[in-house]
Amino acid sequence: MIYLDNAATTKMSEEALKEYEYFSCSNFYNPSATYLPAIKVAMALDEARARLKKCLGAKKGDIIFTSGATESNNLAIRGSLREGKWEYVFSSGEHASVYNLANALKREGKTVNFIPLFKTGEIDYNALEKMLSPKTRIVSVMFVNNVTGAINDIKKISEIVRKNAPSAILHVDGVQAFCKLNFNLDELDVDLFSISAHKFHGPKGVGALYVKNKATLKNLVYGGGQEYGIRSGTENVPAIMAMVKASELINTQENFEKVLKLKGQFLDEIKKCDKIKVVGENTSPYIAMLLFDGVNGETLTRALENQVIVGRGSACSAKKAGNHVLEAIGYKINEIKGAIRVSFDESLTQQQIKESAEIIIKTYNELLEKLK
Ligand code: PMP
Repeated sequence: MIYLDNAATTKMSEEALKEYEYFSCSNFYNPSATYLPAIKVAMALDEARARLKKCLGAKKGDIIFTSGATESNNLAIRGSLREGKWEYVFSSGEHASVYNLANALKREGKTVNFIPLFKTGEIDYNALEKMLSPKTRIVSVMFVNNVTGAINDIKKISEIVRKNAPSAILHVDGVQAFCKLNFNLDELDVDLFSISAHKFHGPKGVGALYVKNKATLKNLVYGGGQEYGIRSGTENVPAIMAMVKASELINTQENFEKVLKLKGQFLDEIKKCDKIKVVGENTSPYIAMLLFDGVNGETLTRALENQVIVGRGSACSAKKAGNHVLEAIGYKINEIKGAIRVSFDESLTQQQIKESAEIIIKTYNELLEKLK
């Protein structure tokens, strides 16, 4: 079985698992306790913040550990809301944890605008500029789209936002970019940045929110005052330490080059079948979104699953018929029905890539024959 759904989740690394075990069974103390072994855990946790900032390329700012990117995104946005007549701007391609929240804010009576997407899957930068004003409070745009792999130009976005919306907080969902693309948070000049450990060989249920200026962020839950009072609750120390270990073990540039070649090879094979469309342009090497004419993506996924595991676009919304991201790009519902997301990992071999593309084409043709 060849696993090609790495954008949904990745396998945890051995080293991360060892770290998890060490901080669960040996060094298991509560970092908020006041005796020496616990103080040492608190120190390890603070070092972990500095280590993660280094991986993110951030000299300024702070790290708030969370239960994953869904929480980081909700905290970033709800925590930045303010009283008064403010405006909120979101891209139309956001993950459900931002997109559904944006729609909830709209229902609550807030002024919410959605930035349209280009056919490439990127946001329309001119449309963003037109939506901004001194009344804009939050702009939230993801780095790499989890459905299409489209890469938004975050530096360009931050420049547009700083110029046109001086009071705005810029939040970036960096889940599919961190440990996959080379970037430096200080250079990108964003205010808030969400990450999730299970996308880069760390454990599930843990993530972080980078905060440039924590004075601008309000807490959503009340409790013991952990994480600068912004996210109370005993920290999930084993998972946090494993996450940071996992991020340090990744050689982003080396993996990028390897995965870029693998994706190129995969697409060369897939394009031998002219009924399969590839969505987007200049997308992340880790993600390929394919549209299969005349079959249901769900049926194809199930027909493949004993040999090749692929995804439907977003694991979180896989059960929904439509897909707001592909719709925002302009695809019709019957095209979206045949959508399959293939997502790669540096551990794959060229042989596995060739084999999986051949199996996908063969299974697709068999389904088409059956449907005749
Ligand atoms: N944002 C993006 C872009 C994602 O791909 C995901 C995971 N599907 C999330 C947010 C949510 O992350 P988590 O699973 O950690 O809640």
